[in-house]
Order: sequence, then structure tokens, then C-alpha cells
Amino acid sequence: MTGSVDIQAGVAREVAVLGATGSIGTSALDVIARHPGRLHATVLAAGRNVEALLALCRTHRPRHAVVAEASAFPALRDGLRDAGLPTQAHCGDAALEALVGGDACDTVVAAIVGAAGLPSTLAAARAGKRLLLANKESLVLAGELLTAAAREGGAQVVPIDSEHNAIFQCLPDAHARAGLRRIFLTASGGPFRGRSRAQLAGVTPAQAVAHPKWSMGPKISVDSATLMNKGLEVIEAHHLFGLGGDRIGVLVHPQSLVHSLVEFVDGSTLAQLGLPDMRTALAVGLGWPQRIESGVAGLDLLAHGTLEFEPPDMDAFPCLRLAFEALAAGGTAPAMLNAANEVAVSSFLQGRIGFLSIPALVEDTLAALPAAAADSLQVLLAADARARRHAERAITQGVPSMAKLR
Ligand code: NAD
Ligand code: MG
Repeated sequence: MTGSVDIQAGVAREVAVLGATGSIGTSALDVIARHPGRLHATVLAAGRNVEALLALCRTHRPRHAVVAEASAFPALRDGLRDAGLPTQAHCGDAALEALVGGDACDTVVAAIVGAAGLPSTLAAARAGKRLLLANKESLVLAGELLTAAAREGGAQVVPIDSEHNAIFQCLPDAHARAGLRRIFLTASGGPFRGRSRAQLAGVTPAQAVAHPKWSMGPKISVDSATLMNKGLEVIEAHHLFGLGGDRIGVLVHPQSLVHSLVEFVDGSTLAQLGLPDMRTALAVGLGWPQRIESGVAGLDLLAHGTLEFEPPDMDAFPCLRLAFEALAAGGTAPAMLNAANEVAVSSFLQGRIGFLSIPALVEDTLAALPAAAADSLQVLLAADARARRHAERAITQGVPSMAKLR
């Protein structure tokens, strides 16, 4: 299995960083650069920010660089040539999938945001790569298919979501999972913790993306503010650890130092703690089973004082409830939840709809489009497209009122 390269054995792990210019991509490259000779970024992929991608190519000297958009390709090709770099320029999904599935890498950091990350994530799973999975939307959209592809391809999946990475560290193998009763995902509560639904009506995109503890891309920051991020993570945990929604709890923990907990039948609870910095999770994924330097300092609990825990407020933040309901409904429901949410968040960030319209749109979409069995990628992608169309039409026609939201 290509994913089992031992980074201590003198063979450099060759890493494709997808979403290289984003928050997770930047953190991954920071960890990789700390281990020259043991880790090498061989493929860097981004959406359309050519200048940022070129800067990363100058620093990390990958063999391949990929932009999603064809219009950005000439600037990438010419920029690489002008910089005198040997990096080959590529564009588009097919090129990215071929590089991810081919011999340019043995490890893939899947950190493209949204459902756009699914094809490359699936390609890495099928090809048996070590898959550092940050792109949670791909698991929400096609969790069964993705986990089956990883199983069949022999890919080792290491979750790069702080909560799931924490659970991975507490439950590294099947042996450790014996006697597991349930897990608890922690949530910071986001920038609006403690507000009532009425107090959320006028919040702005700038306020929503100002996360108190984590520095992240705009989409996941808004998801954290609505608690949809935790909802997506509940579905993500269901697929990664094979647990029903009734065995996945959510605890709001404003200090963001306890990253998640697992409880066993004997009354033991294990947790993983650390500073809120994604480089720890990325170092776990890049080095596992070895522990490698990440650049993150140790946790000084005396300096941090009290650790608090409280239940989530499902009334002010209905997205978490909607995600539990979509998980229980199964089939195409999680794919439609994710798609409607992507449309809603993008519209909110553009100032087209208000904050409370995000859950309203998701609820309206799930109510209008009943869940069906999801036995193929085609069915899931069709459900995703239908939900996007429904949500977009609802926005154009005037978003469903919050009065309808339970
Ligand atoms: P970001 O917005 O900072 O970066 C997104 C990256 O994806 C950019 O490099 C962008 O160029 C690229 N991209 C966008 N569309 C693309 C496309 N169609 N094709 C190729 N590349 C494309 O986002 P982020 O915060 O780094 O999050 C990335 C993923 O990781 C998300 O799924 C998020 O939920 C997950 N995640 C992030 C964090 C975090 O701390 N940032 C934590 C846990 C999970
Ligand atoms: Mg998380």
C-alpha cells in the first residue's frame, strides 16, 4: 500500500496538497517545510489564485501545480516558466484526479472547500493513498461511497478535522474501539454563542467569519457561526467511526482546548487536548504512527484556567438539528443538506440573504425534496444539483421566512 511509507525509513513521503492556498493547505505546507528530506510537497492544487499558487511553488518546488479554472492556466504556465521552475502546470478536474491517483504522490491532503473536493478525494481513496481528509463536505455528500472506495483501494484515512483527529488519536485501531459506548464532539460555539435566535437576525458576514478561536476559510467560519459545521461533523463522524447519531453527542466548549472525547462501557472517557492550531492534526496525519514536530507549542493548562462545557442551543442554531435529522433520514438527505447549505452560505457571504435565512433555506430544501435511497454517485450528484437549484430559486423568489422554521 503506497500510503504506508514510513517517513523515518529514509524515503520522503510525497504529498499532494489540494487547496494549497487555503487555510488548511497553508498549515499543511508549514508542517511539510519543517521536515525536508522526510516530506516533500510534490503536487500543489488551488482554485484560481495563481499569484498565491506561484508563490507557494517558488518556496516548495513541487513537480506539479494545478489550477481548477482553465482561464487561470496561461498565467500559471507563464509564471512558472518566468520563475525558472521545473514545475509542470495543469488545469481542471481530470488533470487533478490523474495526478492524485498516479505516482506523483503517496499522500494527499484533501483540503479543497465544499463538494468541489469530492472527485479528487475519491480519486485518492480509490488509488490507496494516505488520505488526510479535511474536505468534510465530501464525506457528508458521499460518505458510504468514499469509505467503501478507501476500503477497497487500501487507503488509510486520517481525519483532518480537529474533533475527528482527536477521536482518531483516542481510537487509532479496531482494537482500541472495543467497548466504545459513544463519542462527544466539542464545539467552540462560534462567534455568536449565547445569543438567542432573535439576536442573530442582523448579524453581518464580517461578524460571522470572525471566529473567536480558529483561523479558517470563510465558508467553514460561517458554518461554525451557524453550528452547521458541527452538524456536518456529526455526519462526518458517523462515516469515519461507524456510529449512529444516537451515539454522537455535541458539547459546547468555548476554550477549544479539548478537541473531542470518547466514552467506553467501563466508564472511562479519553480526550485529546491541545492548542487550537490545525498543524497538530496535520502532523498526526503526515507522520502517523510517528509523532513529528508541528510548530505548535504544548498546552499550558495553568495559563488557560477553567475549561467550560455546555449543551448546544438548537433553537438559536437550528442547523445542528437539521443535520441530525438529515443523518437519521439517510439516503440523499445529507447530500441535499450540504448542497443547500453551500448555496446559502455563499449567498450570505455575498450579502444577498440574512444569517437566519441559512437554516431557513436548508430546512425548506429538505422539506421540499424528500430523501431517496442513495446507491450511486450519480444519484447523489443529481440530488446535490436538485438541492442547489431549489435553494437558488428560493433565494431569487424571496427566502422562506423564519416563521416557518421550527
Ligand atoms: P479556504 O477557503 O481557506 O481554502 C480553500 C482552498 O480550496 C483554496 O486553496 C482554494 O483555492 C481551493 N479551492 C476552492 N475551490 C476549488 C476548486 N473548485 N478546485 C480546486 N481548488 C479549489 O478553506 P479552508 O478553511 O482551508 O477549508 C478547506 C476544507 O477543510 C473545508 O472542507 C473545511 O471544512 C475543512 N476544514 C478546515 C478547517 C480549518 O481550520 N480551516 C478545519 C477543519 C476542516
Ligand atoms: Mg472541526
